[in-house]
Amino acid sequence: MALPSLEKYKTQRDRPWPWNEDPEEWKILRRKTILQVGMNIAVISPLYMTFVMWMNNWETTVTFEVEDLPSAPKTLLLNFIWIILEDITFALVHRALHTPFLYKHIHKVHHTYSTTIALAGLYSHPIEHVFGNLVPLTIPAFILGKHLHFVTYVFILCRRLIASSIAHSGYNFPSEPSEMFPFKAYSAYHDFHHGNNINSNLGGGTILTDFVMGTNKEYFNYVYKQMERFPDITKPEGSTEGSSNENSPTRDQARLKSD
Ligand SMILES: [Zn+2]
Ligand SMILES: [Zn+2]
Repeated sequence: MALPSLEKYKTQRDRPWPWNEDPEEWKILRRKTILQVGMNIAVISPLYMTFVMWMNNWETTVTFEVEDLPSAPKTLLLNFIWIILEDITFALVHRALHTPFLYKHIHKVHHTYSTTIALAGLYSHPIEHVFGNLVPLTIPAFILGKHLHFVTYVFILCRRLIASSIAHSGYNFPSEPSEMFPFKAYSAYHDFHHGNNINSNLGGGTILTDFVMGTNKEYFNYVYKQMERFPDITKPEGSTEGSSNENSPTRDQARLKSD
């Protein structure tokens, strides 16, 4: 399933993909993933949206007027504010999901993947899909209210889906479109949460909420240790020369070194 030309960008180079680790187990997990993701998209999401619209008396503050179409700078600004609001909401819900009871009964489904694939972003218990994925997409919409045009909303949803897929892709590419937003979490950031420490890096879109909650200290300690182990990480981004070791640091670490 993996593309050989992309393997040099694999985040967890010391761990195999799920289909290589246990092909039989992977067949079962693949089926469960497709069914669960399909149900979250086709059943849970429409039900939730219907519920929200019903709670709001079938009204929306999002505007559809052509003359209200936002400028590109306004669209980017609204996106940035949205990312911050969504990150705060997601991180708080995510933190709750890591309490023992909720983790055992709900969030563990999403953490089935310690080496993630893009589809794993939506592979979650329906309750988590509502509170962890959909509620953080609803609260910013209510706060931004009439400033949101339908086109902006669609743009945000598309960016959100792409960002989630990249964050769970298992790859750490030289550059990502979402990086145009400051403080954006890269894919290696969320990958650390799945592959190294499930109590670290609870934020969704940025690294800011984790800084406030003190939940990314271990990640940056890991980054600094890796920087000491691999002094060659100041090499230009994307360079593979001299970094073929399977434990080579990620692009985040190279970037931190140059900051
Ligand atoms: Zn995840
Ligand atoms: Zn988690």
